[in-house]
Amino acid sequence: MPAPLVVQKFGGSSLADADRIRRVARRIARERAAGSDLVVVVSAMGDATDELLALAHGITDDPDSRELDMLLATGEHQSATLVSMALHALGLPAISLTGPQAGITTDGRYGKARIANIEPRRVQAEIEKGKVVIVAGFQGLSGDTAADAEITTLGRGGSDTTAVALAARLGADRCQIFTDVRGIYTADPRHVPDARQLPVIGYEEMLDLAGQGAQVMQARAVELGWVNGVVIEVLSSFEDAPGTLIKEDPFVEQRNKVRGLAHDRNVAKVTLVEVPDRPGVAHAVFAPLADGGINVDMIVQNVGHHGATDLSFTVPEVDLARAKRILEPVVRDLGFREMTTDSAVAKVSIVGAGIQNAPGYAARMFGALATAGVNIEMITTSEIRITCMIAEDEVETAVQALHAAFELARPDDVTDAADAGGPTASAVAS
Ligand code: ADP
Ligand code: ASP
Ligand code: MG
Repeated sequence: MPAPLVVQKFGGSSLADADRIRRVARRIARERAAGSDLVVVVSAMGDATDELLALAHGITDDPDSRELDMLLATGEHQSATLVSMALHALGLPAISLTGPQAGITTDGRYGKARIANIEPRRVQAEIEKGKVVIVAGFQGLSGDTAADAEITTLGRGGSDTTAVALAARLGADRCQIFTDVRGIYTADPRHVPDARQLPVIGYEEMLDLAGQGAQVMQARAVELGWVNGVVIEVLSSFEDAPGTLIKEDPFVEQRNKVRGLAHDRNVAKVTLVEVPDRPGVAHAVFAPLADGGINVDMIVQNVGHHGATDLSFTVPEVDLARAKRILEPVVRDLGFREMTTDSAVAKVSIVGAGIQNAPGYAARMFGALATAGVNIEMITTSEIRITCMIAEDEVETAVQALHAAFELARPDDVTDAADAGGPTASAVAS
């Protein structure tokens, strides 16, 4: 019988220095000793990606996106080689590969490339030679020939996606995401002290939490796991403790409550004041943003008066300067009064499959925010989520008030029965 194949991913904080890299190597060695074949995906060490970004911005405000991806990919090259060396030091055969060497190809969108395909021959050949294969996460190769081959990166948190994609392509028996918390919690444990770890969460709920700012998993990784039926285990690299399983959740219909909260500070609001109220204006505003690859999220258009209306929407904070540049000529041509922007805003969201079947969640959310003195500036909903935009400096107050209002610290009767009295955020190692 072939050995089970395990894909393990280690995040930046798990690899922040030589001691931590040696600890990760010992964990890999343990799994190897238990008889598994291993593909290990690594992120850049600690804050290396932020430091590389800062280096680029020290040179220019607007670094070329191709050169930036070439630069950012080196963070993961570095950590992959060091983990491989740490395994050699333990007497374990290992080899580090870049994303391109691992056969990962992508589309050509620098900074937010999507994986197009994985040609796994090299990885499989190294496994067959008895090696632990260390793959640099967060990157791939675009282009069809050697003449137009380009290094791309997959967006912040993209090593999660590398890991899940490899697990799907290789038909791995397990896909483990090791991070600096024990698993998925009802809210970010760094901000909500009584956040509770969930033993299981469904793909759909996790996708909405990740999409609304729960950075513990990149949303695209959850999506890939869902489409390919990969069960994703999220667990601590610092302690041996049960993690959280992300998978199809059989209890979802029986539950009738909010599953978790997410918040996102990295948004900015754009308001176009006195927009002419006539057909084609929204298209004229949003089409060039879409062409520029800018994701517009919440959109609110006020009731028109005297032939004009105000249009507000949110964009990722990192794209704000570009969005302004794109919109300036549109504002001029269409005769808006002005464009104002605000980056001191944030989103808070409640997520739960139970929301779609029961009324009253929105009222309860707005009531909790009102009681906490938090003003709501915009609202959007999906079937399983309600999101409010608020002032950025009220995030902490808002998430704590919502966590209490929806009683998220209390174990769920259906899925958490075995977990009552289980681990809490206070036990999280750092
Ligand atoms: P890594 O470097 O391992 O990829 P990240 O920093 O990307 O780690 O993600 C882990 C962090 O995600 C945690 O330290 C935690 O603060 C944050 N986080 C946000 N929301 C949640 C949540 N619902 N459950 C667990 N962690 C969360
Ligand atoms: N190093 C990259 C980042 O910081 C990718 C990752 O950690 O997953 O976003
Ligand atoms: Mg991450």
